Amino acid sequence: MSAVIVAIDGPSGTGKSSTSKAVASELGLSYLDTGAQYRAITWWMLTNGVPVDDASAVAAAAARPVIDSGTDPAAPTIAVDGTDASGPIRTQEVTAAVSQVSAVPEVRTRITALQRSIAAGAAGGIVVEGRDIGTTVLPGADIKIFLTASPEARASRRSGELKGKDAAGLSATQEALIKRDAADSGRKTSPLKKADDAVEVDTTQLTLEQVVECVVTLVGKAAAAKAEAKAGQISK
Ligand code: C5P
Repeated sequence: MSAVIVAIDGPSGTGKSSTSKAVASELGLSYLDTGAQYRAITWWMLTNGVPVDDASAVAAAAARPVIDSGTDPAAPTIAVDGTDASGPIRTQEVTAAVSQVSAVPEVRTRITALQRSIAAGAAGGIVVEGRDIGTTVLPGADIKIFLTASPEARASRRSGELKGKDAAGLSATQEALIKRDAADSGRKTSPLKKADDAVEVDTTQLTLEQVVECVVTLVGKAAAAKAEAKAGQISK
């Protein structure tokens, strides 16, 4: 497989992370979870007393945390100022605040630059998952995929992930998910959106294995087209 850049976008509950990791592992590509980076900067704001509902305070602090992403799909990591943040970024508190922080343009500029430099440094190719990868971060990606699923499928997948929660906890989580999607799609700066040239894959009726197979096929075709175009250029 040549060094392809794969952009995978979509809302939560579409199987985006599981699919992206599995595709990267199968094809020997690096993997970047951009949601984890927005969660990491949000966690830093919360632990450093920055009021996350104050966009100018968030903007003023946006350059301060040092965020490191490990891109091995078998063991992705995220660290803030040298501390492992993989646990804390998944808390309810961070989840509830992340859309506010990620909507601040200075935060997006900073994180987007980080994402581009990670993608540029991935010599063997990379799968980058998020919400604005195909539209804003890597508009020149070799293949763009936009995953969707019905609201019911997304909610029930989320419930599966959150086993052990009581009914009230589950419905609160589902409500929060809908609210977060609305905020991510409605924000001014690079909202969650399908790129015009992205391939949409509706995962509602598919198993994870089927989605992975479908994406691997799409990436394989894109890699072959890229290799062919390169060979054509060389022979000219
Ligand atoms: O994918 P995940 O649910 O971890 O993303 C957390 C949040 O990060 C999203 O709700 C969104 O606010 C933000 N995000 C973003 N752009 C991306 C990836 C995530 O704004 N490319």
